[in-house]
Amino acid sequence: MGKAKILYIEDNLDNMILVKRILEIEGYEVIQAETGEEGLAKAFESHPDIVITDINLPDIDGYTITTKLKQDQGTAHIPIIAMTANVMKKDKQTVFEAGCDGYISKPIDVDELPIQIENFLKGNIKWNSQ
Ligand code: MN
Repeated sequence: MGKAKILYIEDNLDNMILVKRILEIEGYEVIQAETGEEGLAKAFESHPDIVITDINLPDIDGYTITTKLKQDQGTAHIPIIAMTANVMKKDKQTVFEAGCDGYISKPIDVDELPIQIENFLKGNIKWNSQ
């Protein structure tokens, strides 16, 4: 079985370069998007196995992206992982209510990230991140 295709939506270039590099080393195919609208378009067009999305984006936020993907029959099944520095309990609740399947905290832990992604892809996706 080939490695999974991951859509990563992120407007911060440093994070994009770092995460993309880590995931590609692991053998994943990474599709990148730098705005919410670009992310949505690429999700609908390329049917990734998983979506990782930043929350604060220049146009629409990660919550809106999640809501739209979960409302569409073609993309509703795709796990969506929020990548956010907002780790307060209230923010976790917001991520959950938006329909995200899990989250990864920023700053990104380069050793943990591949393990987290693998777990999410295996379906161990309910709030198993730190
Ligand atoms: Mn951002």
